[in-house]
Amino acid sequence: MTAVLPLNPPLSKPHAGRVAWITGSTSGIGWAVARQLAGEGAAIALHGSAQASADTDAQLAELHALGVAARYYPLDLSDGQAIAPLARRIAAELGAVDILVNNAGIQHVESVLSFPPDRWNTMLAVNLSAPFHTIQACTPAMLERGWGRIINMASVSGLVGVAHKPAYVASKHGLLGLTKSVALELATTPVTCNAICPGWVLTPLVQAQIDALAQREQLDEAAARARLLGAKQPSQAFVTVEQVAALVGFLASDNAAQVRGAQWNMDGGFTAA
Ligand code: NAD
Repeated sequence: MTAVLPLNPPLSKPHAGRVAWITGSTSGIGWAVARQLAGEGAAIALHGSAQASADTDAQLAELHALGVAARYYPLDLSDGQAIAPLARRIAAELGAVDILVNNAGIQHVESVLSFPPDRWNTMLAVNLSAPFHTIQACTPAMLERGWGRIINMASVSGLVGVAHKPAYVASKHGLLGLTKSVALELATTPVTCNAICPGWVLTPLVQAQIDALAQREQLDEAAARARLLGAKQPSQAFVTVEQVAALVGFLASDNAAQVRGAQWNMDGGFTAA
């Protein structure tokens, strides 16, 4: 009797031998993505803005325990000129980047009327220009080796406007434009470029907004969380970092080879309204 093969045979380590660079991967979504891709066999370039510490050592140990190589690379991404040299260092030490996850991002909530221009410049540099520089630095080697994945962490704020977040919304809309433009330029190559648009995910970036809301409105923690979700996210539940990481895992998979230029929302219905 002929054995019936499953449609998608399980590949426990589909990225064995590959290198993933996840920017801003010491906390929140980025750290979950690092664990996801390490679990799928990729060597990990862990990255953050702070110098190496006992915390980053512990994170590397956790990744090593998954059986992959991992190193920590500190760099402030607002320094665009330093990005290509870092990509070269990662290539020399871990191998050229096969999976680039542009995850690092910052938030500042303030009216456009008083928004500090310095803050605007930094947010555009980290949220939008840094992905341009990493893509420019990493894509040639992906094309040479005939496989690559570029995944940009945008936001529902890339799809709709949000009051008091002018720089964040502008940078995330820009990141979606960059994603689509790069995806089209690479459309006939084995390198894909896509974006993920999460709604509210409970991470340090959102916790800061919960804390500010609680203080401003004199709410306790639970009430502030409910207020934040209630205003925008119809499911009334946070997206989890593991769910976003699983979507990154899919977009990095071979089954996603024809997902190109997507702006894939995972937002509890945020943008369905
Ligand atoms: P987070 O604050 O936990 O992570 C942000 C990461 O970016 C950190 O690791 C930080 O070190 C890094 N970073 C910040 N400034 C940097 C700089 N100048 N140079 C280098 N690294 C820098 O927040 P998060 O919620 O996990 O956010 C990750 C990404 O997801 C961001 O791009 C964010 O805009 C996006 N996002 C988050 C949510 C959410 O609800 N949490 C929703 C939509 C999109």
